[in-house]
Amino acid sequence: MTTHVVVLGAGFGGLELATVVAAECGDDVELTLIDKSEGFVFGFSKLDVMFGRVSAEHVLHRYADMVNPGVRFVRATITAIDPAAKRVETSAGTFEADVLVVALGADLHPEATPGLLEGGNEFYTVPGAFAARDALHDFSGGKVVVAVTSTPFKCPPAPSETALLVHEFLTERGLRDSSEISLVMPLGAPIPPSPDASKAVLAAFAERGIAWRPETLVRSLDPTRKVAVLSDGEEIPYDLFLGVPVHRAPQVVADSGLAVDGWIPADSLTLETSFPGVYAVGDVTSVGTPKAGVFAEGQAAVAAARIVDTIKGRTATSEYGGKGVCYLEMGAGQMAKVEVTFLAGQRPVGGLQGPSPELMADKSTFGAERIRRWFGREWQPAAGPSV
Ligand SMILES: Cc1cc2nc3c(=O)[nH]c(=O)nc-3n(C[C@H](O)[C@H](O)[C@H](O)COP(=O)(O)OP(=O)(O)OC[C@H]3O[C@@H](n4cnc5c(N)ncnc54)[C@H](O)[C@@H]3O)c2cc1C
Repeated sequence: MTTHVVVLGAGFGGLELATVVAAECGDDVELTLIDKSEGFVFGFSKLDVMFGRVSAEHVLHRYADMVNPGVRFVRATITAIDPAAKRVETSAGTFEADVLVVALGADLHPEATPGLLEGGNEFYTVPGAFAARDALHDFSGGKVVVAVTSTPFKCPPAPSETALLVHEFLTERGLRDSSEISLVMPLGAPIPPSPDASKAVLAAFAERGIAWRPETLVRSLDPTRKVAVLSDGEEIPYDLFLGVPVHRAPQVVADSGLAVDGWIPADSLTLETSFPGVYAVGDVTSVGTPKAGVFAEGQAAVAAARIVDTIKGRTATSEYGGKGVCYLEMGAGQMAKVEVTFLAGQRPVGGLQGPSPELMADKSTFGAERIRRWFGREWQPAAGPSV
């Protein structure tokens, strides 16, 4: 009997899960992967585009060009999920599943921060990062504020990386002496699980004169007065504001009955939800790892192994270990790599490699391997200083 697996969302988690299940199960499975977007863009590629290293076209991996045997891709917007019936309504019709996987990520809401759309730039959505590229190119010096507007947010190292890359960008253009850079972050340290990585990043901020404001959020912008209002009530002036917008689970997830306190509480070892045969992986969950692609992928690999075992009539034994690797570009051709482990009920831990120029190539390989595996094509991510 053929098992119908329906995967909702073709991001980091959905692509990994679909690829593994289709490859392992062959004709035993009919796999449908549904996403509303034209294609997949790595989070880190948004920074590459923003800093002018590559074109928007280069970083878009179109689903229509995907060569992934066994994966049937459907471009559609998911409008309703019935987890009890394992039935999904979409703009392309209804899908019935034997096994349903929710990998719909986190939606971004720049409109939820008063003044952000009118007076600032967000760099977390694809169009936002591309617009921020233009704002950076038009910038002639002044006060730059890089800030987070709410928690949780994807890829906690990304704002630190952005502040360092803004420094590099302005230095290359001869604008650094006439500029100030501040980083407003809700975290107490740049990379909380790794004291070594946090120390290295704080040293880099100090060396480059980047002002670090921990345990603080930006609540709103006043575009007329060009000030950002912080969570402690203080106002700081800006000429260029680069913000991380509010994150929420997609509305279709909130309406499905799967979410509790905003996110899906999947089992942190098996990624099963409270509905039999329904799994959830990645940013849409509250399994206790940061919202990052490497964790979405790790969770997808475990859910995939368990689905494969179940389809093949074996006992599922694979369990999620909360491990992930984060790359952090420091500017000046230097990359750091942090290996972190988040286990339920334990303090997260992380070790630091680098920073070194060799790790730039490591990160490129990371991206290229995934595009080969998921899309069946060769791709060279950007590496090196901005152009
Ligand atoms: C600037 C930046 C830098 C980053 N750098 C890194 C990094 O270096 N390393 C790292 O690991 N992570 C990084 N991330 C984080 C990473 O991009 C995300 O955490 C990761 O993509 C989450 O994977 P996911 O599968 O859970 O969700 P996503 O990859 O977001 O995929 C969700 C998919 O669901 C689709 N979808 C949502 N709602 C619907 C609907 N109603 N109908 C149809 N489709 C829908 C979306 O179109 C999307 O394709 C970065 C993020 C940003 C913004």
